[in-house]
Amino acid sequence: MSQEPVSNFIRTIIDEDLASGRYQQVVTRFPPEPNGYLHIGHAKSICLNFGLAASYSGRCHLRFDDTNPAKEEQEYVEAIKTDVRWLGFDWGEHLYFASDYFEQLYQWAVQLIEAGKAYVDSQSADEMRANRGSLTEPGVDSPYRERSVAENLELFERMKNGEFPDGKHVLRAKIDMKSPNMNLRDPAIYRILHARHHRTGDRWCIYPMYDFAHGQEDSLEKVTHSICTLEFEDHRPLYDWFVAQLGIHAPQQIEFARLNLSYTVMSKRKLLQLVTEQHVESWDDPRMPTISGMRRRGYPAAAIRNFCEKIGVGKGYSWIDLSVLEESVREVLNKTAQRRMAVLQPLKVVITNYPDQVEELQAPNHPQQPELGNRTLPFSRELYIEQDDFMEDPPKKFFRLGPGREVRLRNAYIIRCDDVIKDEHGQVVELRCTADLETLGKNPADGRKVKGIIHWVSAAHAKSVKVRLYDRLFNQENPDKADDYLQVLNPDSLQVTEALAEPNLLTACSGDTLQFERVGYFCVDSQDSTAAAPVFNRTVTLRDTWAKVK
Ligand code: ATP
Ligand code: MG
Repeated sequence: MSQEPVSNFIRTIIDEDLASGRYQQVVTRFPPEPNGYLHIGHAKSICLNFGLAASYSGRCHLRFDDTNPAKEEQEYVEAIKTDVRWLGFDWGEHLYFASDYFEQLYQWAVQLIEAGKAYVDSQSADEMRANRGSLTEPGVDSPYRERSVAENLELFERMKNGEFPDGKHVLRAKIDMKSPNMNLRDPAIYRILHARHHRTGDRWCIYPMYDFAHGQEDSLEKVTHSICTLEFEDHRPLYDWFVAQLGIHAPQQIEFARLNLSYTVMSKRKLLQLVTEQHVESWDDPRMPTISGMRRRGYPAAAIRNFCEKIGVGKGYSWIDLSVLEESVREVLNKTAQRRMAVLQPLKVVITNYPDQVEELQAPNHPQQPELGNRTLPFSRELYIEQDDFMEDPPKKFFRLGPGREVRLRNAYIIRCDDVIKDEHGQVVELRCTADLETLGKNPADGRKVKGIIHWVSAAHAKSVKVRLYDRLFNQENPDKADDYLQVLNPDSLQVTEALAEPNLLTACSGDTLQFERVGYFCVDSQDSTAAAPVFNRTVTLRDTWAKVK
């Protein structure tokens, strides 16, 4: 976050606004609607808004746009706060709720009525839709459009007092039913909704429409640059109209292209469906593109911030491959994650020339960072290696183990495979090897080269731990393009198995992410682990395995 910022079109606009004296201090905001958990698209908006405020020594507000009582919940408010903080951002004292402005918004609606700029419409929803026109046809004025100010004031008051059922009347701005911009065709600004709000309870039975609230909320908070996604470009003239009519502070709205990520859905409606229909376990299931899911999976916050910085902001349609995010995760974890050894598919190895003893070997916790110290690894006569580190009939380029071949055991000796033992089905069940006992931490004295290095665990000391191998949740690049996105869920997105691990693994704490050497990065699950039985989530593989598949 302390790097020199990369310029972009938004920074150019801000620079001009500061140079011209239009604004003195940059104020941005992140305005989530508390109707779901935050996802990686929101992270882009968070990094952008908080990042701009920090780099211009301004401030960024966290504001909950909670104008819709039906779908909003306190649980989401708390989860959103946790996620924004975890990403590394701080709104200080600037925490706001649209619902705190309901009284002010109501007063502004009255002000518009008094100025002859708003009226109560009593058409049915169908009539209103029909009279709105289309992109090619102008709309038709409502028969109620010329109601007197006094009548409008009285009806609006009675709407507020709960005298009418839902949908009986709406308050509309009086702008222009023939405008080429549909948003200016007398948009609804207040509706009757007999619904309980998670913060204001039953105090209101009329609620402002999002479009009547958003711009004025920004104005009240003296936001200078109101940054939103492209679909609000056509709403900007409406927001500007409201603040001009009301004579209040005018923020500059700037639109940018939303993040789309391959193999991912980001609509909150779909994410909610995945949870409620139990296609995943919860909002923070490690396969979810939510910030809480990524945290639980072991993605570092820094990796998400770096990713958002790397992809930049623009106006063009942006489609980013999931591998770009995964690569950001690897870049951070490669530097920070301690190394351990664990075997997922064990094959027994007996070192025939090794005495019946236990030796304590020293292994660095990180190959490039000696300050992270060493750990002790028990070595003994019987080991496990990974099944696919052995081939009975290996091709030339296979540098691992085969009959008569040599390989180095990571942090230990060079061994040679002398014998292959099979069961009655012809399956290889054990290898008999000899170790070159002069090669601990040294190359062979005779100068022979041993290229391959494989990981291992001591059979008698290995601990069995549960591992969850996560993979992409969808197996189609653009799940939204499928007839039904649920049909392209990846059936192999979760595989639960056991690993045999070096004993040090049991000291890992909840939330720690480690590299299982040559296998991948794994994070101790924060919910299903106990001190005696940690559960490891695979954060990411060591390499992009999907690049080949495509
Ligand atoms: P919906 O309207 O489907 O409920 P939303 O994604 O617009 O969902 P909000 O809670 O309104 O959800 O979003 C908060 C902020 O995050 C908005 O300013 C929005 O522009 C931004 N945002 C949402 N999705 C993305 C995305 N994919 N890329 C970038 N910014 C996003
Ligand atoms: Mg939205």
